[in-house]
Amino acid sequence: MKGLDPVEIDVCVSEVGPRDGLQSIDRILDLETKKRWIEAEAAAGVSEIEVGSFVSYKRLPQMADTAQLVAFARNLPGLRVAVLVPNARGATAAIAAGAHKISIPVSASETHSLNNVNRTHAQMLDEVRHIRGLVNAVEERTRPYFEAGIATAFGCTMEGQVPEETVVRLAEELLAAGAEEVGLSDTTGYADPKMIRDRIRAVHRAVGHDKLTGVHLHNTRGLGLANALAALDEGITTLDASLGGLGGCPFAPGASGNIVTEDLVFMLEAMGYRTGIDLDRLLTVRDIVKRGLPDEPIYGFVGDAGLPLGWSETRRADNTA
Ligand code: ZN
Repeated sequence: MKGLDPVEIDVCVSEVGPRDGLQSIDRILDLETKKRWIEAEAAAGVSEIEVGSFVSYKRLPQMADTAQLVAFARNLPGLRVAVLVPNARGATAAIAAGAHKISIPVSASETHSLNNVNRTHAQMLDEVRHIRGLVNAVEERTRPYFEAGIATAFGCTMEGQVPEETVVRLAEELLAAGAEEVGLSDTTGYADPKMIRDRIRAVHRAVGHDKLTGVHLHNTRGLGLANALAALDEGITTLDASLGGLGGCPFAPGASGNIVTEDLVFMLEAMGYRTGIDLDRLLTVRDIVKRGLPDEPIYGFVGDAGLPLGWSETRRADNTA
């Protein structure tokens, strides 16, 4: 994790609900509610939020207001504003809007890539090279951080198993093409803790620890937090999560979408990792999303069960010590 880091933290919890959560549901959350959500999470101490993606609004109407959200979120103190882009055209829009971090998802499964964005690996690598050029043209002071997220890095709903060698090779190629860093995404919820360990180690061995510091996990089969812990043990310092696990999987009733931000922060803080996030405040943000999306299921064990007795008092004492 690099760049904006006003509070000293051990782990960056990157909120991806406004992008991954919202793009997985049919309902469209209005711009004002999205702003209130992002503002409230930033105020709770969340230091990075993926606010949207620069895709065709015909394809994903939920993301049509991404440029406005970037413009708004850029002014929130201490917040690093991330966006997803599918191609160089999206990157141009992201740069124009002033995003701090740009991520392009590249599927390890070529079948998934062809189905999703109609591009082969070779074509995606061309996009990455093109984006590198666009990013380099930005004045250094305001230049966004450019990352490639390896999607379906642990398995694919079309190809099934994705070989580890494919992931390692793609990581090397993406870095050579100009990405500053790669991330590993369990897009399909196929990962288990051993696979997480093995693949992170393999990529670290090939490209170095500083070129893979983040993972993106889904809780489709209930292993999200176990996988997060395995990733932490391998030195990962950025974990994606979504508030209320928004965007649950239609094929797995009861399963949240991304790992639940509140539950992840609870695990990390309980173990002594500093996230910079005030969990009491974070839990109140759930109400904003619930009111904005009354028919969507909002997940999270900590949200349902509440914090353990004495939790908040202990934290407050720690913070003033
Ligand atoms: Zn995802």
